[in-house]
Amino acid sequence: MPSAPSRWWMGAQPPATSRSAYVEIAVESGTEAVEAVSEILDRVGSGGIAVDVPLDEGGPHVVKAYVPYDHAARIKVRRVREAIGRLRAFGLGPVGEVTVRRIADEDWLEAWKAQFTPIRIGPFFIRPSWSEPPGPLRAQGPVPLGTELVLDPGMAFGTGLHPTTRQCLEAVGQLDLRGARVLDVGTGSGILAIAAAKRGAAQVAAVDTDPLAVRAATENAARNGVRVEVALGSAADVTGSFDAVFANLVADVLIAIAGDLRARLDPSGTLVCAGIVAEKEAAVRGAMEGAGARLVGRDQRDDWVRLDLRHR
Ligand code: SAH
Repeated sequence: MPSAPSRWWMGAQPPATSRSAYVEIAVESGTEAVEAVSEILDRVGSGGIAVDVPLDEGGPHVVKAYVPYDHAARIKVRRVREAIGRLRAFGLGPVGEVTVRRIADEDWLEAWKAQFTPIRIGPFFIRPSWSEPPGPLRAQGPVPLGTELVLDPGMAFGTGLHPTTRQCLEAVGQLDLRGARVLDVGTGSGILAIAAAKRGAAQVAAVDTDPLAVRAATENAARNGVRVEVALGSAADVTGSFDAVFANLVADVLIAIAGDLRARLDPSGTLVCAGIVAEKEAAVRGAMEGAGARLVGRDQRDDWVRLDLRHR
């Protein structure tokens, strides 16, 4: 099996100055150290970091950051080298050399785009608008193309590549949403709402407290040719009840709006909560149970927990 790495990107933003040159700082890292290396690079990177994830277990991750090619670049590289040196001394699994390369003006946008290779998650195939539909995957024969989602990483979180988004997309794929009423709270790019619509949901509502996300989700829904009612706000601003409610937020927000989420759920519906760091799982569970929901499913990926709930 060729092991084309999958990639995810945190805080993705297209470079504001796509005409200036950039410097790519890359560090190979074993699984244990990825988080620490990412943190170091995130401190200097403009517009987030990229992580190449190996397909074969145990292979090295490559964490990359991009900084403008200016007088400060040298200082940033030195800072990364020092911090990586300290991390190595810490003995947190293998961490490779810091490699630096300059990316010329015209190459920059292409290099940035190349971070987003198409990926498959559950029944979904997610590709950025600039990449071709997946010829090679189709050619593999037994692998069906799946449901295609076209998403460009915009300002809003949710390119489909973050572990919590993956967990929710898998839930969208597992639930039978044909004819269902679906609510997506904290829609970001709109990825979960769009995926639900593509899986046959009859009515999809999506809310987000961030106007940028509302815009991105609206545009992405149109680009995918599906109907999603996107609005600014949260679960408390929505009326009606839903067969499935998705809430990929963070633990504290989930706890704060547990009652609102439960209130939007049809008596036979499923509430999918994600974005929960493992140490806060019990607190979220407590809040949801207090609001009248009971746990029916659970998924954990690294440190991230997804809880599936129904009416008690
Ligand atoms: N659903 C997407 C994005 C998740 S990121 C995905 O699964 O990838 C979380 C989103 O929730 C962000 O866009 C953020 O703006 C939004 N958000 C944060 N607090 C919120 C709240 N109280 N109500 C609704 N949206 C909220």
